[in-house]
Amino acid sequence: MTQPVEEDECAVLIVGAGPAGLLLACLLARRGVEVRVLERRTAPAISSRAIGLHPPAMRVLAELGLEREAVALGERIRVGRARCRHRELGRVDFARADPRRPFVLALPQALTEDLLARHLTALAPSALGWDWEVTDLRESARTVALTARRSEGGSGALHLRAGLVVGADGSRSRVRALLGITSAGRDYPDTYLMGDLSDPAGAGSGREALVHLEPGGVVESFPLPGGLRRWVVHTGRTGTDPSPARLVALVRERTGTVLDPATTTMLSAFTVRRRTARRLLSRRCVLLGDAAHEVSPIGGQGITLGWLDALELAPLLARHATGEPVGALDEDPAWCLAERRIRRRARLAGAVAGANTMLGRPAGARVSALRALAVRGLLRTPLRHMLAWVYSMGWVRSR
Ligand SMILES: Cc1cc2nc3c(=O)[nH]c(=O)nc-3n(C[C@H](O)[C@H](O)[C@H](O)COP(=O)(O)OP(=O)(O)OC[C@H]3O[C@@H](n4cnc5c(N)ncnc54)[C@H](O)[C@@H]3O)c2cc1C
Repeated sequence: MTQPVEEDECAVLIVGAGPAGLLLACLLARRGVEVRVLERRTAPAISSRAIGLHPPAMRVLAELGLEREAVALGERIRVGRARCRHRELGRVDFARADPRRPFVLALPQALTEDLLARHLTALAPSALGWDWEVTDLRESARTVALTARRSEGGSGALHLRAGLVVGADGSRSRVRALLGITSAGRDYPDTYLMGDLSDPAGAGSGREALVHLEPGGVVESFPLPGGLRRWVVHTGRTGTDPSPARLVALVRERTGTVLDPATTTMLSAFTVRRRTARRLLSRRCVLLGDAAHEVSPIGGQGITLGWLDALELAPLLARHATGEPVGALDEDPAWCLAERRIRRRARLAGAVAGANTMLGRPAGARVSALRALAVRGLLRTPLRHMLAWVYSMGWVRSR
């Protein structure tokens, strides 16, 4: 039986409708660029995954006119508190980091993606194609030829010719592999259990981030919309049974907080890596988001980083699409400068996330007591404002 084959062409093709690909597509569509996004999933995601949108991410949403809606959907976290053995070590106040946006917004990734997908569809109704997995890519001097197939066993193939291709297809990027680009980095020995459960403090009260630096390992929690709270628990080097009962038991054992496992809406066990692609550019393709750089999710900077990449690349892609001649991207000084900036931000974010990851490791009683003392001392000095600035990615403005 012959498969139905479709043929198409566009100025810019984005592979992957995660937060980075969708945001870039919106920025390009707003500039009138003929953009298409191919996504292998057959429908929008429903999992909450990443939740932290830092002030630089909110500035990007403001540029799209979506900030107000995002804030209405999410939960504003203005304060983070550090604790150890039921004692408060101190607090970090995000208000000083960006006076216009004195918070980190907690918005589940599915809601963030939905917001962007709706916006993209309003700007360019046929831009987003679900259920297309890109399987092949060939670059020539002026265009890129791509092949995609239906993802879930459906028949059909798509042959698409694009002026430029953006690989926004996540940490295990197919585009990166097809371009022969390797990545370098490290696997951390840390494992975590993460879950969203009803917030025992209730919606509207106690909506602060909590970081318990306990001898058994860190327990972090963040308020979510809908009266939920995200819990992230360090589970040593080998991990643990990924069940709601186990998560609830660990939280109770280390912090004394009693949770109801029956209220779990999401549960996930994860390991942590840090990776950067050895190059982000080829002749006519560019990588962004997790395809370009993966940082430890401890610190929650992944989405914001990808969006800053998109902001960096949108004017360059638009310039190409409006007809200004562009040679090989990897030989163009403007593109190479953008690549250096993206790599620099990823290095900084990766270092912060790495430090966070190490700070939360299990420690013997003595080391744990010293760690608590040091954190307590630090949070009593003006250096706590510096910490708020670092955690809310205030350093992005000072590039
Ligand atoms: C368990 C977990 C928890 C996390 N928690 C946080 C957090 O709290 N805060 C935070 O900031 N970050 C967190 N992250 C990281 C965050 O989710 C990522 O940084 C973010 O999703 C990266 O966005 P992206 O668009 O670059 O890639 P992705 O979100 O990975 O999107 C890539 C998209 O490409 C699609 N795709 C892949 N291959 C193809 C192909 N061949 N053809 C077509 N489509 C393709 C995928 O289906 C996917 O939709 C977490 C990650 C995990 C796994």
